[in-house]
Amino acid sequence: MSTPVALELRNVRHVFGETVAVDEFSIDVDAGEVVCLLGPSGCGKTTVLRLAAGLEALQRGDVFIGETHVAGDGVMVPPERRGVGLVFQDYALFPHLNVSQNVVFGLGDMSAAERSIRAVTALEQVGMEWAASRYPHTLSGGQQQRVALARAMAPEPPVILLDEPFSGYDARLRDKVRDEILHILKESGTAALLVTHDAEEAMFMADRIGVMRDGRLVQFDKPDELYMRPRDTFVAEFFGEVNKLYGTAVEGSVSTPIGRFPAPALSDGEEAEIVIRPEAIGIVAESSDAALCGKVLASRMLGRSSLIHLCLCQQTKEELHIHSRVPGRFLPDEAEIVSIEVDPNRAFVFPVSRTR
Ligand code: ATP
Repeated sequence: MSTPVALELRNVRHVFGETVAVDEFSIDVDAGEVVCLLGPSGCGKTTVLRLAAGLEALQRGDVFIGETHVAGDGVMVPPERRGVGLVFQDYALFPHLNVSQNVVFGLGDMSAAERSIRAVTALEQVGMEWAASRYPHTLSGGQQQRVALARAMAPEPPVILLDEPFSGYDARLRDKVRDEILHILKESGTAALLVTHDAEEAMFMADRIGVMRDGRLVQFDKPDELYMRPRDTFVAEFFGEVNKLYGTAVEGSVSTPIGRFPAPALSDGEEAEIVIRPEAIGIVAESSDAALCGKVLASRMLGRSSLIHLCLCQQTKEELHIHSRVPGRFLPDEAEIVSIEVDPNRAFVFPVSRTR
């Protein structure tokens, strides 16, 4: 049996004056699933979230929460009646209410006793029950964030929408809060659509990631699929540094200074961009008889891996500068000649027409 869909946007388009903020946009979030919307600044992520929440009037397309049609075709259910939890920057905690009152606020027409139990449960879920009588300004940013999440979760919504919820923290606190929130979401079974511009954060949080560019969904997939099978250079680059080489397709493959790569989808004469992650370029410290050699320009320890800058000078007139990433500590000397091995399975070949 397939998992029911908790939130769906179908063929949405939204313009602000001359700006097309979102176009031909469809996405679905299954019950209990965490989906991240990822993309550069201004690509339309927040607009998608606001349309899903009902904070922006839908211009074209449809929005469904579970089976309910909440926007589109003359329908416009207001945000408070969509049963969706919101964690948005402009939905900060009320400063004049204490933590408990903040959480109780959204619980509507339940009995006082029931509201109080729900608030305690929600605060316990985020580890903030000890702060029930404190006021927001006496809490750290991370603690306030957890209370905001408790407030959004307390009504037990089937769907929660989170807009850059971790942007206000320093790196260490962010890792901790992210981890906690992921577990809270998974334990509660709430479906989440979360906006971020940080690929690592999206990979940490998401069951699936929707990569956006210029208002459109470029690829919607599981994190490992996006990493291992990006549909274009934009997606590949979003998930980490890449080396780029160029060549021309001839009989289903493209020759480059570091080898020949299969390109069955390209026609003869078509220009190709070959995108290779640094970890797909392996180094043998001793120079051997292997055809492919490079000169070390610099090597740097980056923590869990080492980055080696190489110049491939022997086969091309122009100097080709590439990066290799090797696990652990591996620091060949400057000017050393090393042999290079490329894993062709981790090289992506795209027609130049599809790259930008
Ligand atoms: P960021 O990561 O910087 O928050 P984003 O991907 O969330 O960006 P949006 O905020 O959705 O992007 O904006 C998409 C486009 O729509 C941008 O070009 C933005 O300038 C424009 N835009 C968003 N809101 C409005 C508005 N209220 N009025 C006019 N233009 C807007």
